Amino acid sequence: MEKLSSPKKTIEIIQKYNFDFQKKFGQNFLIDSHVLEKIIDAANITEDDFVLEIGPGIGTMTQYLSEHAREVMAVEIDHNLIPILKETLAGYDNVEVLNEDILKVDIGKIAEKKNQGRPIKVVANLPYYITTPIIMGLFEKNVPMNSLTVMVQKEVAQRMQAGPGTKDYGALSLAVQFYAEPYIVANVPPNCFMPRPKVGSAVIRLTRYKDMPVKVKNEQLMFSIIRASFNQRRKTLQNGINNSSTLHFSKEQVVDALDKMGLSPKIRGEALSLEQFARLSDLLEG
Ligand code: SAM
Repeated sequence: MEKLSSPKKTIEIIQKYNFDFQKKFGQNFLIDSHVLEKIIDAANITEDDFVLEIGPGIGTMTQYLSEHAREVMAVEIDHNLIPILKETLAGYDNVEVLNEDILKVDIGKIAEKKNQGRPIKVVANLPYYITTPIIMGLFEKNVPMNSLTVMVQKEVAQRMQAGPGTKDYGALSLAVQFYAEPYIVANVPPNCFMPRPKVGSAVIRLTRYKDMPVKVKNEQLMFSIIRASFNQRRKTLQNGINNSSTLHFSKEQVVDALDKMGLSPKIRGEALSLEQFARLSDLLEG
């Protein structure tokens, strides 16, 4: 079948099937072959790879993935897209389409079955309304994974890559950087999609660490501290922790831990690196 990655071909398919774009599913299909090639390049897909694609839409990127990978599994929630995918992916015999909600699929099990538990690669033009649950779900469930190369909202990509002391730095930066090294591959304007999204987009690659660079005794506690310190951005870290309903440390405990780290009691959360949050968490846990 002819490649889909042009506005003309996309419109042809959409009209043939009388397809209605569903806003609730974040449906903005890619119509730019340069962007698609950039994504495939950045993901560094080889003939050895098992690739999970989240939300194939009408199969535009799936065609590219199929040509580079050993095997592709594409998980699509919208049942109206399934007959379309049957047509657009006919002849691509290393692709399997699963009509499911990605948040309900056990990806670890699929990696075990289809890739003998070896790390998979995830590639997607993500539905933006569930970017964070999808990415954090894959990390937190310890799905064996080399990398995630995904299209996300531009501001979200910037937050994922931001470092301490910058305006975009926050709980999402730390959560992502605990598991992976982020790299923004390209910014993508709205005219590369159909229909055009209201926001700018960016492709970001998250390369999963094999050995976690930051060790912490209690991950849950560290992330509770991180959330508390960014809840009230303009307040000191100490106030953030004290005002949290989930953490129960006294002012003295927090000041004492900061002092042991050589940090001022007036420091704000946005100034601390991931390593420093890990150390603070370890000190507070005792
Ligand atoms: N990959 C296609 C492309 O680039 O043209 C479509 C990308 S579109 C931004 C997001 C896709 O994810 C849509 O096809 C949408 O139906 C699908 N989707 C939305 N929520 C989903 C979910 N919870 N599980 C699986 N797919 C979902």
